[in-house]
Amino acid sequence: MNTIGHYVDGSRTQGAARTAEVYNPATGAVQAHVALASAAELDRAVEIAARAQPAWAATNPQRRARVLMKFVTLLNRDMDKLAEALSREHGKTLPDARGDVQRGLEVVEFCIGAPHHLKGEFTDAAGPGIDMYSMRQALGVCAGITPFNFPAMIPLWMFAPAIACGNAFILKPSERDPSVPIMLAELFEEAGLPKGILQVVNGDKEVVDAILDNETVQAVGFVGSTPIAAYIYERAAAGGKRVQCFGGAKNHMIVMLDADMDKAADALIGAGYGAAGERCMAISVAVPVGEDTADRLIEKLVPRIEALKVGPYTAGDDVDFGPVVSAAAKANIERMVQSGVDEGAELVVDGRNLKLQGYEEGFFVGPHLFDRVTRDMEIYRKEIFGPVLSCVRAETYEEALGLAMDHEYGNGTAIYTRDGDTARDFAARVNVGMVGINVPIPVPLAYHTFGGWKKSMFGDLNQHGPDSFRFYTRTKTVTARWPSGIKEGGEFSIPLME
Ligand code: NAD
Repeated sequence: MNTIGHYVDGSRTQGAARTAEVYNPATGAVQAHVALASAAELDRAVEIAARAQPAWAATNPQRRARVLMKFVTLLNRDMDKLAEALSREHGKTLPDARGDVQRGLEVVEFCIGAPHHLKGEFTDAAGPGIDMYSMRQALGVCAGITPFNFPAMIPLWMFAPAIACGNAFILKPSERDPSVPIMLAELFEEAGLPKGILQVVNGDKEVVDAILDNETVQAVGFVGSTPIAAYIYERAAAGGKRVQCFGGAKNHMIVMLDADMDKAADALIGAGYGAAGERCMAISVAVPVGEDTADRLIEKLVPRIEALKVGPYTAGDDVDFGPVVSAAAKANIERMVQSGVDEGAELVVDGRNLKLQGYEEGFFVGPHLFDRVTRDMEIYRKEIFGPVLSCVRAETYEEALGLAMDHEYGNGTAIYTRDGDTARDFAARVNVGMVGINVPIPVPLAYHTFGGWKKSMFGDLNQHGPDSFRFYTRTKTVTARWPSGIKEGGEFSIPLME
């Protein structure tokens, strides 16, 4: 059976002894093993990166940008190949896998503007004969630790700006779907990236801790669950590194009584069940305002949910969403559903016991809808990360807003209404990082920044957009004085020391 190793110094390498299993979530079968690097293997990759980085940083930004341009061409060339490898290990449908690559590729496109983004500031004549200017300089070696749910997009969000800024980057992808990150590194080198600038080191906690403790690593980006985000933030920051950690989510969609109920229901279907709910921007809580709104919304949702088709990515366009990533994820979702039932929520659509002929061992979970969920229930408080939508009925707009405000997570939220005043008030007051107005999954485009608030983000600067150029560079400010010189006239006789 194939063992997926690492990508170090321009080649695929085998890795030492420890490995983990990589599943095909649709069949439940082990399809490969992935090497789990030791601290020594990580340290070696960092040394290689540190040797390669100065020449890359000294390559002018326009030339670096040309490598990114070629990389975009190659990503488009291999889009189908990347999507297939991604679906095979993650389980998401092929169109969704193409979206995963595409939303990453758009950040590479944004980073082609590196020469512009890296321009510093300049003050002419800050004093007599004095100019002041700032430069943005690369940090050196940076590292990223990424989750299973976007194995192309999130690595690209991290390493594209880091490398465009002149850094070297070590990527530690999720051990559940490790194939695509290595394919991305190979493509980047085919585009002209020098060896050692992008390396992929697979592994688990051992290699993550080695990254956090390595003194050469200057910055760490993390995306994943909140407890690990908090851990990584603390340990890396204590070591003096620059850190940004993006955590879990519980995204609310408020539905006002004047909303177009068909559009709101359609939005909830895509945002709640797309990718089997395994998205940090999934809407997992619908908050209809008013009993009548809630009844109308549930009436619209039920037939739509019952019509959803669940299946393997190989079934093509017939499938709305695939399996969840692992047997453990499936077991956790089923346990949470049971806790919702036990705590008194009304299970309107029950997706348990879904069986697909020929895929009995796959990690499939049918769609669920809970109504009359309350604040104290576990299914409301915790992230489920599965195809489970909870409806929390609110009596007023203020109560609905309060639900989104009081939840510990603050990644994304949305409001459906025809009233501009309500929408403006919601956008201004809600303490959540990304807001949709009649848009269900408000994932900002590459040239804006992405990041949540509260327990969804630890750090200061967001991913992609202008923040990414700030995160992956350091500012140096130069104050220069030039006393009057040759323009006053040349000295032709030998100067005398009098
Ligand atoms: P995870 O936290 O289990 O794993 C993320 C990464 O951390 C992986 O590379 C993993 O190997 C590593 N890791 C796991 N346990 C570790 C430990 N004890 N010590 C050190 N490293 C460890 O997350 P996941 O299951 O891969 O991804 C799903 C989670 O990611 C969800 O909570 C989701 O909301 C979140 N997510 C957040 C965003 C965002 O932008 N806020 C985006 C995508 C996913």
